[in-house]
Amino acid sequence: TDITTLLLSRIRDVADYPEPGVMFKDITPLLADPAAFTALTDAFAEIAERTGATKVVGLEARGFILGAPVAVRAGLGFIPVRKAGKLPGATLGQAYDLEYGSAEIEVHAEDLAAGDRVLIVDDVLATGGTAEASIQLIHRAGAQVAGVAVLMELGFLAGRPRLEAALGGAPLESL
Ligand code: IMP
Repeated sequence: TDITTLLLSRIRDVADYPEPGVMFKDITPLLADPAAFTALTDAFAEIAERTGATKVVGLEARGFILGAPVAVRAGLGFIPVRKAGKLPGATLGQAYDLEYGSAEIEVHAEDLAAGDRVLIVDDVLATGGTAEASIQLIHRAGAQVAGVAVLMELGFLAGRPRLEAALGGAPLESL
């Protein structure tokens, strides 16, 4: 479709970043183009409305940039899910495995409650580890996941089947 062509044209492939053998998807050209950034924001906001989301969660750090305008556009609150140790209040944390070692994400406990339906927003779905941990965090807070919306998924890393198990029927939308 037209929007797919527009968005793809504003994503830059950077070879061997951040390490040899990795093809990094750089979204900064998209952020710098108001037509593309607006089209992306509108598409994500439509997903928020269609899935009945009551809150938008953005995953640090590019999920903050993409998710915040979606929350404003959809008239919903924005909640940051951050790397451990960055949030000042009482938090819920969720650890997850990386290729080497592990990582942990956190959310302010008071930001999510039973009855909330959360749309999770990020730029790239790779292995799905980060999004899966955020789904677990949201469920442990007593809230529901309305869906996961990403700009792009790297299909060869099989994040989708991993997330579908955690999503239990909620949609994974990749633009
Ligand atoms: P995952 O947990 O393996 O799915 O990795 C997803 C996280 O890593 C997201 O928060 C992305 O922002 C980041 N990420 C992975 N690969 C890329 C990339 O090629 N470009 C930008 N971000 C990436």
